[in-house]
Amino acid sequence: MTTTSADTGSSRSFLPVDEARAAILDKLQPIAGWERVAVRGALGRVLAEDIIAPYNVPAHDNSAMDGYAVRAQDLGANGETVLSVVGTAFAGRPFSGIVGPGQAARIMTGASIPQGADTIVVQEIARREHDQVFIPVGQKKGQNLRRAGEDLTEGGVALAAGSRCGPAELGLIASLGIAEVAVRRRLRVAILSTGDEIASIGRPLGPGEVYDSNRYTLFGALSRLGCELVDMGVIPDRPEALEAAFRDAAQAADVIITSGGVSVGEADFIREMMSRLGEVAFWKLAIKPGRPMAFGRIGNAVLFGLPGNPVAVMVTFYQFVQDALLKLMGVNPLPAAECFPVRAGFALRKQSGRVEYLRGRLQRGADGLSVTLAGAQGSGVLRSMSEADCFVVLPEDCTAVQPGDTVCVQPFHGLV
Ligand code: AMP
Ligand code: MG
Repeated sequence: MTTTSADTGSSRSFLPVDEARAAILDKLQPIAGWERVAVRGALGRVLAEDIIAPYNVPAHDNSAMDGYAVRAQDLGANGETVLSVVGTAFAGRPFSGIVGPGQAARIMTGASIPQGADTIVVQEIARREHDQVFIPVGQKKGQNLRRAGEDLTEGGVALAAGSRCGPAELGLIASLGIAEVAVRRRLRVAILSTGDEIASIGRPLGPGEVYDSNRYTLFGALSRLGCELVDMGVIPDRPEALEAAFRDAAQAADVIITSGGVSVGEADFIREMMSRLGEVAFWKLAIKPGRPMAFGRIGNAVLFGLPGNPVAVMVTFYQFVQDALLKLMGVNPLPAAECFPVRAGFALRKQSGRVEYLRGRLQRGADGLSVTLAGAQGSGVLRSMSEADCFVVLPEDCTAVQPGDTVCVQPFHGLV
């Protein structure tokens, strides 16, 4: 690739995405404070302490299938074995007798393995005649058993502190008979929109005004993360109003997220105000959309000053802010950055020097997954986010995409 000196000069002044992400995470530590909640209340919350299994799950060896509980040593190596059926074991109603030599017990899925038996033969391959059952050759000792403790072992760490509870974790906690768990307190996040042209919904638009959408996308993203929201509304471009809002937000919240007012061409007093009230770095990120971003502290609160454009807000939120919030919430380890390769179903030319986050739609065809672009890609076109189901991430050095090229995508939704 040929690079002109002008290119080199300009890309150097942009902060690479990975460096910004690392710099943010490096400066943050989990917040203190926790509470006890009932199991259902733990959904989306972060465990404040390890959950130790008070007993084995399953508690007893039990059958994984409906069939017959037998003794492996009774089974002939060449030809069918005939066993006499001496009883039945149901789930929750064990067979109290013993399976002796030449004997078998009928058994249902989940039933405890009767004394003497060590192997389950599934009913589909066993032939029953009155009190006798015929077992074909080829059974393996110990087959179709679930061992006591194979899911969770008594005394072991069932879930580590720092785990975020999803449906599986709630079920797992319940499977241990535990009714309450200790979770970190919710992270308090203040959001505010800036800009004289930004109007709150519920009144008609004046000339040149746009409705505030950023506080709504942020509300959605933050609610999903389980944060407690402090909504500061739209703050007009007036120094006294802004200063009061920042001071209130820093008192009320662990994190302040603003949108708008951090680009260089802005009425500069927002940046000036952030600098005066706290310790804030203003970055020009090597990213599209979302070049300007502020990060730092005002009082004890962490500040993220996101760009104003609605798509840029969402891109910077998901690429920089979400993991930072998870870290503050005590999540450990942080989820691995998700990015998987698929075939591009579009062509595009791109400038090098910035990572570009396009909005894409995954499609399943006869020859696998491919991704197309979700409509117009302007940084103000929120509809592209709504129509998309993934980001297409083009690295800094990429200059073009041809149909059939492999590109990396980050899906919006996972099974969580
Ligand atoms: P700024 O970063 O303040 O220059 O804003 C960039 C663009 O985003 C401008 O067109 C703003 O009108 C728009 N914008 C800023 N804040 C919001 C908001 N809360 N909702 C919708 N658009 C916004
Ligand atoms: Mg503005």
